[in-house]
Amino acid sequence: MSSPHSVSSHNSAESAQRVIAELRELAALTSTPDGAQRLAWGPVWRTAREWLLGKISAIGLSVSRDAAGNLWATLPGASDKTVIVGSHVDSVPNGGWLDGTLGVVTALEAVRRYAAASEHPVTLKLVDWADEEGARFGNSLFGSAAAAGILKVEELRGHADKSGVRIEDALRENGIELDRMPDAHASLKKINAKAYLEFHIEQGGVLESMNKSAGVVLGTFGLQRHMLRFVGQAAHSGATPIHMRRDAFLAAASTALECREIARRHSKPGAGVVCTTGVVKVEPGFVTAIPGAAEISVDQRALDADVLAVMLREAQEASRRFAAENNVTVEWSHLFSIEPRPFNPALLQLCEDSVREITGDAPKLPSGPLHDAAQMVPHMPVVMMFTYSSRGLSHCKEEDTPEEHLEKAIRAFLLLVEKTISLVAHQ
Ligand SMILES: [Zn+2]
Repeated sequence: MSSPHSVSSHNSAESAQRVIAELRELAALTSTPDGAQRLAWGPVWRTAREWLLGKISAIGLSVSRDAAGNLWATLPGASDKTVIVGSHVDSVPNGGWLDGTLGVVTALEAVRRYAAASEHPVTLKLVDWADEEGARFGNSLFGSAAAAGILKVEELRGHADKSGVRIEDALRENGIELDRMPDAHASLKKINAKAYLEFHIEQGGVLESMNKSAGVVLGTFGLQRHMLRFVGQAAHSGATPIHMRRDAFLAAASTALECREIARRHSKPGAGVVCTTGVVKVEPGFVTAIPGAAEISVDQRALDADVLAVMLREAQEASRRFAAENNVTVEWSHLFSIEPRPFNPALLQLCEDSVREITGDAPKLPSGPLHDAAQMVPHMPVVMMFTYSSRGLSHCKEEDTPEEHLEKAIRAFLLLVEKTISLVAHQ
């Protein structure tokens, strides 16, 4: 087996410095004092992509665009077995300098390094997904959903942004036809994809709390979101003895507390589950009335589909128990759910090895936010790496990663790309 370090790991510190310098260059080109302004399908986003195109052509590679506007650069290898690295250059309005761009600019460096290597056993592709943020038309993971074959064109038709521009027109300005976007799926299927790797800032405070530069992302959370409506009887707060009450709020409150216990019971190190009651409505809602009705939201998330299903069932049982105890009824209505997307075990191992080799440790964490990577899970082996986010802040101009952490994490990700190329070459 050839050395996994054949792609000049010795100067990865220099590579990391170049990535950071290029990130600052792109930020300067596409930001105002309020932050990054690379809103998808708009002029600043196009400027960011032109900048990227210039960098790619300087490596000597050509670029193609699929029917959904995703940008692809290909470095063909001896085999058509393909490793894909990427993320997105679009940002929310007044966004940060690292969200998405970190993954794209580091992928650019990975391609640059591979281009300079003496051997190219497999094909390496860079992808810049179009409109990951959904900040303009409310449809997150737009380009990657089209590539994954799950874009619902009918639901998008006629949508307009804040200034009244229709989605069809915004796309057309960029040479994209909404009706043809699903063709991107056929393009993806033509690729003999063996791995998709994505590098992103954490956008939360877990790595910072451990003072770790990089972490292995186990997958993206699955989600179950419901509204629960408890109905009892409103009555006078002075005249009604406790044992005669049908207090809907107390049943709801007990259920919310029990949901937290359910999440605690199912939490394991590195694969935490979470549960949130973010909405509480009480009727009639004045101080001298026993609540006759109460509504709460229950949002449960877990990385494991079976665990999520058990958490939901336990929450339903708890709500019925507390309803009975308070002599009220309860009804559940489904709001939204997403399947968990656990990442590939072999790539998780390579990610862990890479992070440990560079940083001395390899913390593991799930991803709360969705990413383009989640869309690729049904189609190829996938893994993500996260880096430290200062104060857990993202989608704002304060978004940052201290340079010493950024440098290490970039090196760890470049090492992951090398290890993955080596793994795929020997498959
Ligand atoms: Zn992002």
